[in-house]
Amino acid sequence: MPAPITPLDQNKDDQDDLVFLEEHPAEPAAHPTREVWRVMIIDDDEDVHSTTTFALGNLDMQQRPLEFVHAYSASQAREMLKHEQDIAVILLDVVMEQDDAGLHLVRYIRETLKLADVRIILRTGQPGYAPEIDAIRDYDINDYKTKSELTRIKLFTTVTAAIRSYEQIRKISNSRRGLDQIVHASTELMSLHGVHNFAAGVLAQIASLLHQPAHGVLCVQECPDSGCHELMAMAAAGSFSHLDGLQVTSANDQRVSEAMEHTLDERRNHYGNGAITLYFAGKASRAFVAYLLVDRPISEIEERLLEVFCSNVAVGLDNVELVSHLHNAAFYDQLSKLPNRTRLVEILDAALAGPAKQDASLALVDLDHFAETNDALGHQFGDLLLLAVADRLQTSLGQQLTVARIGGDIFCVLGDAAQVNPAMILALFQVPFSIDGQDVQLSATLGLVRLGEHDGTGADALKDADIALKRAKTQQRAGHFYFSRSMGVEIRERVRMMHALRTGFSQNQLFVVYQPQIDLATRRPVGAEALLRWQTPDGKFISPDRFIPIAEYSGLIIDLGEWVMRTACRELVTLRAAGHDNFTMSINVSQVQFRHPYFLEMLRRALADTGAPPEFVELEITESMAMEEPDLLIKMLGQIKQTGVSIAIDDFGTGFSSLSYLQRLQIDRLKIDRAFVTEITGSARGSSIAEMVIQLGRNLGLAVIAEGVEDERQAQILQALGCPLAQGFLFARPMTADALNGWLSNDALEGVA
Ligand code: C2E
Ligand code: MG
Ligand code: MG
Repeated sequence: MPAPITPLDQNKDDQDDLVFLEEHPAEPAAHPTREVWRVMIIDDDEDVHSTTTFALGNLDMQQRPLEFVHAYSASQAREMLKHEQDIAVILLDVVMEQDDAGLHLVRYIRETLKLADVRIILRTGQPGYAPEIDAIRDYDINDYKTKSELTRIKLFTTVTAAIRSYEQIRKISNSRRGLDQIVHASTELMSLHGVHNFAAGVLAQIASLLHQPAHGVLCVQECPDSGCHELMAMAAAGSFSHLDGLQVTSANDQRVSEAMEHTLDERRNHYGNGAITLYFAGKASRAFVAYLLVDRPISEIEERLLEVFCSNVAVGLDNVELVSHLHNAAFYDQLSKLPNRTRLVEILDAALAGPAKQDASLALVDLDHFAETNDALGHQFGDLLLLAVADRLQTSLGQQLTVARIGGDIFCVLGDAAQVNPAMILALFQVPFSIDGQDVQLSATLGLVRLGEHDGTGADALKDADIALKRAKTQQRAGHFYFSRSMGVEIRERVRMMHALRTGFSQNQLFVVYQPQIDLATRRPVGAEALLRWQTPDGKFISPDRFIPIAEYSGLIIDLGEWVMRTACRELVTLRAAGHDNFTMSINVSQVQFRHPYFLEMLRRALADTGAPPEFVELEITESMAMEEPDLLIKMLGQIKQTGVSIAIDDFGTGFSSLSYLQRLQIDRLKIDRAFVTEITGSARGSSIAEMVIQLGRNLGLAVIAEGVEDERQAQILQALGCPLAQGFLFARPMTADALNGWLSNDALEGVA
C-alpha cells in the first residue's frame, strides 16, 4: 500500500476539495461495501499507470477512496468499457496505437457506448497532439493536459474537479431518471382502482424507486374532531403482509407504530438506517404514512425524490378516495345504501356461476302505486317511505338474503329459495309504514325467478324477473308470479314480431280492408269498418288480434294508426266520389293512440288533408278503454266530438261500464260484441245480453250495431229485437278497397243476401 500523500502545494483553493488520509490507510477495509470513485487509466506507457496511482493512491474524495482500472491500449480500453460500470473519470493518453487513438476512443465512448456521465481527461506527451477545440466541446472532454504539465498537485486538482463534476452529473441524471420514474409511477398508480390497490401500488413504487425489495406497510390516520383513530394499514407488503387491513398496533413491533406516530407528529419523512418512514399529507383530517425496510442508507438525491413522490402520491391518495366514492356511487343506491342494479347483476352473475345457484331465487319487489303516493305527498316523503321499505326488507331479510334497490320503487331480494318466499315478503307489507308520524299502507307485487332453472346471465335473470313482475301486475290480485320458460319464449316471439312488424310496415306489407255494415231492414250497405291486415312475404296473414297489441306495446301504433286513419278517410272520399253519398267509415282507434298528446291534432289533419267529411267518420273505441280514467276520457270525447266525427263503443258488453258512466260519455253508438251475437240463437228470447244492449241503446238514445253476424237466423232475431244495423260474414267479409268498390256497385245495389 503506498504511503499516504501530503500535497506539496498547499494551495487553499484546491485544498478545499480534498480530504487526505494521513494515518489510516486501512480505513477502506473497515467498510467493505463502501462506495468508491472508479478512475480508469488508459495509457500505453506502464510508467504513467504507476506514477498516477502513486500520485492519487490514498486520496479520499467526498469520503470515498479511489479505485483504479487499467487499460494499456485503446482497443483494450474499448473492450473493458463495454462491461465496466460507474467509471467516474478516465485519464486517457492521446497517442497510443495511432497518433489519435485516444481521440477515436473518446468518440467511441460518447457515441457508441453512450457513456455521457464519465469525465475524460486527455493527456499527451507532446503539445503538438492537442485535439481540436471542437473535439473537446463535442465529446465533452473535461480537461486536456500535457503530461509534463501534470504535476502531482495538478493531477489531484484535475481529478478532483472531474470527480465533482461527475458526481454532479450523476445527481442530475439520477434525479431525472427518478423523476421519470415518479411520473411513470404516478400514472401507473392512477390506473389502479380502489384505495387498497392504490396503497399497495404506492409501496411497490417506493421500493422500486429505491431498488429495494418491498417490505412495508402504508397506513391511514383519520383525525376527526373527536380525536385521532388508530392507524389502519391500507396495504402491506413482504414481511409486513400480515398487517394488511389491521390496526398497526397489532404489529407486535413497537418500532413500526412509534416511527409512524413520530412521522405523523412531525409531518415529515424520516430516513433511518434500516427503515424509512414517509409522510403523505391528506385532506384536513386525514394523513397517510408508510414504513419501509431498507438495507442501506438513503442517498440525499433519493430523499429529494421521495419527497417529490410523497407529495405526488398524497394527491393521488385523496383522488383515489374520490374514485372510490364514484365507485360507490356506481354500485350502491345513494338513498338506501343498498346495492343497485349494476351491483346486483354482479352478485347475480356470481350466484349463477356457483353451486348456490340450484337453491337460489330472485324476487323483484315492486311497490304498488308508489308513483301516485310520491306525487301526492311529495318526493321527500316518497324518499322517506322508500327508506322505510329498504329498512324493513333489510332488517327482516338482510341477514340471510341480499336486498338491493334496482329502480325507483323496485327492490330485489336474492338468496335461498326457501327464504325468498313470496308470502313472507308480501306479509312484510301488511303492517303500515310510519313516516313522520303518519301511517302509510303499501302493497307490493313480486316477480320471481328460480335461478336453478335459469341458464342465462345475471342481467337475463333480472329481465325474466321483470317479465314475471309484469305478468303478476296484469293478473289482478295475483300478488306474485314465477317466471316460466314459456313466458320467455312468448316474449322473444313478441320481440321478433315487433321487428318484423316495423319492417313489414315500412315495406308495405300492411293494408286496409273494409267490411260492409248493413241496414237490416233494407239489407243495403250503409258503411264499412276499416280493418288492418298484415301479409308477410311468405304469404301468411297475421291476425290483428296478435299484431295490434305488439304495435301498441312498441309505440308503432301511433304511425300505423295514423296511416289507417288517412287510408280509410281517402277511401271514404273515393266512395263518395263514386256516388255512395251517405256511406260511413268506422275506424278502430287503440287506447295508446287515443292517449297520445297529438291524437286530436292528428285526427284533424287527417280529416283536413283527405277531405273526408267528419260526420261520415266514426271512431271505434273498446269498452275496456272507455272504463279507464273517466275524467280524461270524458274530456277527450268532448273534444273529438267537436271535430264532427262520431264515436262507437266496440265489443260492447265485454266490459263493465256502469250505466251512469255511459250516460256521461258523449258516444253515438254501441257495437254488440260477436260473442253475444253468437249466443243469441241459443238463448231464450228476451234473456240475451244482445237484447239488453239493444234496450240500453234505446234508453240512452244511442244507435246500435251488431257485429259477427254469421247466419240468417241471427240477423232476423237481431232485427226483431230492434237492432237496425249489422256487420258479419253473412253479408260480406272484409275486402280490399277495389273489391269493396266492385261489391258496392254490383251486389249491394241489389241488396245483400
Ligand atoms: P273488431 O274491431 O271488433 O273487428 C271485428 C273483427 O271481427 C274483425 O276481425 C272482423 O274480421 C271479424 N269479423 C267480422 N265479421 C265476422 C263474422 O261474421 N264472424 C267472425 N268470426 N268474425 C267476424 P279482425 O279484422 O281480425 O280484427 C280483430 C280486431 O283487431 C278488431 O276487432 C280490432 O279490435 C282490431 N283491429 C283491426 N284493425 C284495426 C286497426 O286498424 N286499428 C286498431 N286499433 N285495431 C284494429
Ligand atoms: Mg272494431
Ligand atoms: Mg268488435
